[in-house]
Amino acid sequence: MARCCRRLTADIAGEFLASVDTFLFDCDGVLWNHQDATPGAVETLDKLRNLNKKVFFVTNNSTKSRADYVKKCLQLGFHAEEDEIICTAFVAAQYLKSILPANSKVYVMGMPGMLQELDKAGIRHIGSGPDVIHGTITEWVQTELDPEVNCVLLGFDENISYLKVMKAASYARRKGAFFVATNEDNELPMDGPIVIPGTGVVVAAVKTAAARDPIVVGKPHHPMFDMIAKSFNVEPDRTVMVGDRLNTDIMWANNCGLHSIMVLTGIATLEEAQHLMTSNSIEHQKQIPEFYLDKIGDLEEFLN
Ligand code: PLP
Ligand code: CA
Repeated sequence: MARCCRRLTADIAGEFLASVDTFLFDCDGVLWNHQDATPGAVETLDKLRNLNKKVFFVTNNSTKSRADYVKKCLQLGFHAEEDEIICTAFVAAQYLKSILPANSKVYVMGMPGMLQELDKAGIRHIGSGPDVIHGTITEWVQTELDPEVNCVLLGFDENISYLKVMKAASYARRKGAFFVATNEDNELPMDGPIVIPGTGVVVAAVKTAAARDPIVVGKPHHPMFDMIAKSFNVEPDRTVMVGDRLNTDIMWANNCGLHSIMVLTGIATLEEAQHLMTSNSIEHQKQIPEFYLDKIGDLEEFLN
C-alpha cells in the first residue's frame, strides 16, 4: 500500500472507501479515550454497519476479556458482538490452544481478563497475582518450579516482581518451552508527566533474563491478523486499519498488507508521521500511514 501520509479528503474518500469492506479499529486513542467515545465514533461505526462493512475492535490491551470489551463498548454507546472483539488476551489464548500439546500448563504474567480467556480455551495456568521474593540469593535459588509448566505467557501485569520475572525466565529457559507475549507497547496512553509502563516492560525484563525472544501475537506482528483473516475470510487488500500508534497499528497494517488511516486523537502526532517520511530506515518506513484524519468521526461524512 502507498505510504504517503496523505489527508483523506472528500475527493479521494469515496473511491477508497468503496474499495474496502473490512474496518479494523484500534480502541484506545481511536474509538475512545479512557471513558469517553471520541467525537462521532459511534455514529461512524453505525453507518459502516448500515453499509454492510465488517467492523472489528482490535486492541493490544491484554487486561480485558472479549466479554469485558463487549460491556465496555455498550457502556460507551458502541454496538459490539463478542466475535468482533479482537483483544490480545483472546488472541494469545487461541494461539496457545493451536500450538500447545494437550495437558500443557502455562506460567502466566497477566491480569484476570487474560486468565478468563485461558480458562475459556481450556488451558491450565499458574502464576497470576502478587508473588514477592524474601530472603537472600542462596534462598532464591531454592525456589521450587512446577515440573508440569511447558509454556510462558506474558501480558500486562501490574503485579510484576523480581520473583515473577525469575520464575518466568526459568520456565522460558526450559528445553522445548513455548514462550509467547501479547504485545510490547512501551507505555499506557496517559496524559501528564507520569509514565505508566506498558507490557513491553514485562517482556523486556523476562526476555533479558531468559536470553530468548518470545513470539508476540499482538500488533505489529502477524498472528493477530492471521486469526482475523482465517476466521472471517478477510482479504488484506480490502481491509483498512485505523490506528493512533505508528509502531503498533500502522506498522501492523504495513506488515500485513492492509490499508491504513492514522487518526490524531491518540498517541502519535502528524509531525512524527511526516518526519518518518524523511528517513531511509525500513523500520521507519513501515510506520508511515497511507492516510490520516483528525478523528475517526470525520469518516462519517464520506459514507453514503
Ligand atoms: N495495553 C494496556 C494494558 C492498555 O491499557 C492499553 C490501552 O489502554 C493498551 C495496551 C493499548 O491498547 P490499544 O491497542 O487499544 O491502543
Ligand atoms: Ca491505541
